[in-house]
Amino acid sequence: MDMIKGIKGVKDILPEETPRWRLIEDAARRWSLCYGYQEIRIPIFELTALFARSIGAATDIVEKEMYTFPDRDGTSLTLRPEGTAGTVRAFIEHNRAANPLPQKYFYIGPMFRHERPQAGRLRQFHQFGVESFGTSDPRADIEVIALLWRLLSDLALPDLTLEMNSLGSSGDRAAYKPILLAFLSQRESHLCANCRRRMETNPLRVLDCKVPECRAATEEAPQLTNHLSPEARLHFDHVLAGLTAVGVPYRLNPRLVRGLDYYCLTSFEITSTHLGAQNAVGAGGRYDGLVETLGGPSVPAVGFAVGLERVSLMLPESSSSLLNECLYYVAAFGENGTRLGLVLLDEFRRIGLSSLCDYRATTLKAHLRQADRSQCRYAILLGDDEAARGSVILRNLESKAQEELPLAGLSSLLKSRKPSQ
Ligand code: ATP
Ligand code: MG
Repeated sequence: MDMIKGIKGVKDILPEETPRWRLIEDAARRWSLCYGYQEIRIPIFELTALFARSIGAATDIVEKEMYTFPDRDGTSLTLRPEGTAGTVRAFIEHNRAANPLPQKYFYIGPMFRHERPQAGRLRQFHQFGVESFGTSDPRADIEVIALLWRLLSDLALPDLTLEMNSLGSSGDRAAYKPILLAFLSQRESHLCANCRRRMETNPLRVLDCKVPECRAATEEAPQLTNHLSPEARLHFDHVLAGLTAVGVPYRLNPRLVRGLDYYCLTSFEITSTHLGAQNAVGAGGRYDGLVETLGGPSVPAVGFAVGLERVSLMLPESSSSLLNECLYYVAAFGENGTRLGLVLLDEFRRIGLSSLCDYRATTLKAHLRQADRSQCRYAILLGDDEAARGSVILRNLESKAQEELPLAGLSSLLKSRKPSQ
């Protein structure tokens, strides 16, 4: 019969790969909790209107990347393309602003975008993100950036660069737009069709275009950071000074205009030269107006999202060795050995000693072959002879050294000796 395959751009994460995923997710959770962020789990799908209204109708995501489908009653639903909209929706819906602010959340989970699949770009991918609500102080921006930087550095990802920009206030952008448009219209013939369209819908995004001709044509474009209001300038200066104070290095990138409409003031991205074309590892910024746009009170916010596939691609090999290891292979054979082995295995597992046994093996030889294949560190040999003596033989599968130990109290004895994993 024909085999039904998985969907293009939607990957299985197989057991060989899950240790590195656990390592990344555990580090993300640990660093988040350490900075005072709490986990939120938001739904995989939401009303389409939520994303259209928050991310912005004229963005790539909303225009062409969303998985949108009618529910059985015709309501338009969308698989979440990112996590901020859902987190803000939950924040508003549960009236969280009535509780003391600031409130800080993090999430980890799959996101969905209909993109052209390639290395580091999938249709189902995973993000870890944080959202800090209720603080307009630049120290909140510094905190989220430092959290991301510390996490990625802790994971020993190579050649990271933090790029910083300010998008100003919405007033600043409104004042800058005609200045930019005047510049762009002089060079319109050099711009790609997409950018010519963006001049109408979202001119700032022209600066972010990856097409080399567009980049060359906008090399001399007036910079938004030279047109910031004194408040926005001060905020940006504080963020940059704070990053320097806590030792997070950065580079200014006046072209950094994020693809989502809801950003204001601080905008940042972390890239790595190790990722080829898909060089962005994570990105974020301030979105002071979003809670209000989605029908909540006026609550300032700042956050980021990082792509876990890209983190995984960059994770050094050595980081994830040993993590899938089971410690003990219980080789129980013979009538009494098998009977006692069943109980021993259960006891091991209850006490937290990882252990396994191939129930198909009935002889010592067969067990030892499976033990060697299993990558366990030790085998426990328990045949009828050992059963009669009330003991087992502990065999180190690497050095082959053996010692006889009493069967009674074996699990607690080994637990107290357990090598650190
Ligand atoms: P890109 O410029 O690579 O398209 P983006 O600006 O669309 O990224 P964001 O929406 O800010 O990205 O998402 C934050 C992070 O999520 C990115 O830096 C990236 O690591 C990851 N990411 C985004 N889209 C994908 C995807 N389709 N597949 C894998 N990871 C992704
Ligand atoms: Mg994208």
